[in-house]
Amino acid sequence: MITELKSIPDIWKRMPSEMHARRFLEGIIWSTGRHCPHCGSVDSSALRGRSCRPGLYQCRDCRRQFTVTTLTPMHGTKLDLRIWICAMFLVLTSSKGISSVVMARLLGANQKTAWKMGHAIREMMDDRNAELLPLEDIVEVDEAYVGGAPKSLSGAYNPRGKGTGKPMIFVAASRDGQARAKVVSDDQRASLETIIAGRIGSKDITLMTDGSTSYLGIGATMEEHHRVIHSQHEYANPETGAHVNTAEAVISQVQRALVEVYHNFGRQHLQRYLDEIVWRWNHRDPVREVVKQWTTKAGFDRENSTTIWKPIPVVDQMRVLL
Ligand SMILES: [Zn+2]
Repeated sequence: MITELKSIPDIWKRMPSEMHARRFLEGIIWSTGRHCPHCGSVDSSALRGRSCRPGLYQCRDCRRQFTVTTLTPMHGTKLDLRIWICAMFLVLTSSKGISSVVMARLLGANQKTAWKMGHAIREMMDDRNAELLPLEDIVEVDEAYVGGAPKSLSGAYNPRGKGTGKPMIFVAASRDGQARAKVVSDDQRASLETIIAGRIGSKDITLMTDGSTSYLGIGATMEEHHRVIHSQHEYANPETGAHVNTAEAVISQVQRALVEVYHNFGRQHLQRYLDEIVWRWNHRDPVREVVKQWTTKAGFDRENSTTIWKPIPVVDQMRVLL
């Protein structure tokens, strides 16, 4: 069983034929046992024979045939499954995302194919319908206009703030790490209240927002609501612990990916890109790292450490993804 993939050459070395890739995917998708994607039955048998495609099974309950890719975004693909695994590897390990142009070059595929694979993988990163836990404890929310090249480059005039033609996104982030992001039509109270309500588990949270009055109504229904008034140059309140730095960090990741990687994103696909960026944010683990070690004059060993967020191993991410 392959538990780690280090690089593209590593993938090709560990999977010398497409059959190896198929076995790898079966191990990941059917880690708890093979099941029929049509009816969920665990009773199936392998179909062997000259005329059968490799990796074909038949369900003993619904009698339908399937392979490991049936009803996944790889369904009916003509590409070598190793190309798919490499594409997933690239998306999951790139820190800011990867454009279809770069992916095409690295995989030796054409750009249209790479674009389609990228979107299929992003579709799997969609957490909107999944069994995600609601945000709890301290939840920061913020909204922002995103995307767009600098005016000097694009020639487009996008005024700052209200009245800009840029799309608006809404971010909710729990201080311990998990985040959600959604494209919104406006920052009016009615729109934001519905979204916040859908992303938190109970009213038993501390809501942190900026000074926008859109949050006052819903803030009043929460256990606690703290605000930082940016227009008065207040960015953190040491007394109440109020700040929205976590939510702003998510927004800046989105902004960086949109400006540096996906600059020609179609607006209708923006939510997909958000899903990908938030996926990356949500699939990290805190790792304690020692920055400095020394021995004091009295002979005590001391060290300074910091917590950094590291992406979880790529094969573990694939287990969640598939
Ligand atoms: Zn079945």
